[in-house]
Amino acid sequence: MATLSILAPCYNEEESIILFYQEIVKLKDTIKEMELEILFVDDGSKDNTYNKLVELSGQDSRVKYISFSRNFGKEAALFSGLRAVTGDCTVVMDVDLQHPPVKIIEMFQLWKDGYEVVEGIKIHRGKETLLHKMMSAVFYGLISRVIGIDMRNSSDFKLLDKKVVMQLAALKERDTFFRALSYWVGFRSTSINYEVQERVAGKTKWSFYSLLGYAVKNLISFSYAPLHLISIIGILFLLTGIGFAIDAFVSYLMGKAVGGYPTLVFLIILSAGGIMLSLGIVGVYIAKIYDQIKERPQYIIRDKKE
Ligand code: UDP
Ligand code: MG
Repeated sequence: MATLSILAPCYNEEESIILFYQEIVKLKDTIKEMELEILFVDDGSKDNTYNKLVELSGQDSRVKYISFSRNFGKEAALFSGLRAVTGDCTVVMDVDLQHPPVKIIEMFQLWKDGYEVVEGIKIHRGKETLLHKMMSAVFYGLISRVIGIDMRNSSDFKLLDKKVVMQLAALKERDTFFRALSYWVGFRSTSINYEVQERVAGKTKWSFYSLLGYAVKNLISFSYAPLHLISIIGILFLLTGIGFAIDAFVSYLMGKAVGGYPTLVFLIILSAGGIMLSLGIVGVYIAKIYDQIKERPQYIIRDKKE
C-alpha cells in the first residue's frame, strides 16, 4: 500500500493544529488505499504549538514532528520536512486550512495516474490588500519571465513524488524558493485549481516588509537580470556621456563658451546615483555568496519525532 505524507510547516499555530489534523484524518475514509504520515514542522513557535505536537504524536503514531531551535522561516521548515518525510508521495500544505484538504484526493489520484508533481494553482487569491496584490503582480510577473513558466497563481500547495522530494532534499542552496524549485526540477507535472480558503484560526505571519524581503531574495536567487540591468544602465550613461562630449567639443570649436553648470550638476547626480544603485545590486549578490560560503545550516533542529 502506498504511503502519503502530509508536510505542514507551523509557526504559532496552536489553534489550527488540531483542526488541521482532524481534516486530514477524515481523508483516510475516502482514500482507503493509502497509509498516512503527518509531519508537522514547528518553526520555532512561541506559543503552545510544540506541546500540542508532542501530545498529538503521543496519541497517534502517524503524527511526527520536527521542532526548530528558533524561527527559521517557512522555506527552512519545508526543506527540513522534505528531508524527513518517508511517503511514496508527499503533499505540502499550510496548517491554517487555507489549502483545502479535499483537494488531496484529486492530487493523489493524479499521482496514481503517473504524475510526479501536482501543482496547486489558486483560482483567486483570497483576501489580500491592494498593495499586496500589486506587489505580487510585479514579483510574479518578473519571476515568471525568469523561469519561463506562468507562476502568478502558484502556491506552496503541491504533491510531490518521492523522486522529486529526494531531488529537492539534496539541494545545498541556503536561500531556497520552494514554489519555483518544484518547477525547476522538472519531472512529469500537472496542476489542479483550488480556492484559497479563509484562515481557520490565528493570523497571517506576513508583514509588508517580510513580503518585500521575500520577493527580493527570491528574484535574486533565480535571476541575474538585475546584474544585466547594471550593464545596460552603464552603456546608456556612456552613450549619453559621448553625446555630451561631442556637443562640448563642437561648441568649443565654434568658439561658444558653454555655461553648463546645471548640466554638470545633473550629470554628477545622475552618475553617482547610477553607480550607487549598481553597487547596491552587486552587493546583494555578494552578500548571498558570503551567506552561502559560510555554510551555516538553513535551520537547527532542537527536537524531533520521526
Ligand atoms: N509558517 C512557518 N514559518 C514562518 C511563517 C509561516 O512555518 O516563519 C507557516 C504557517 O504556520 C502556515 C504557512 O507557513 O502553515 C503559511 O503561513 P501564513 O498562513 O502566515 O501565510 P499566508 O497564508 O498568509 O501566505
Ligand atoms: Mg495562510
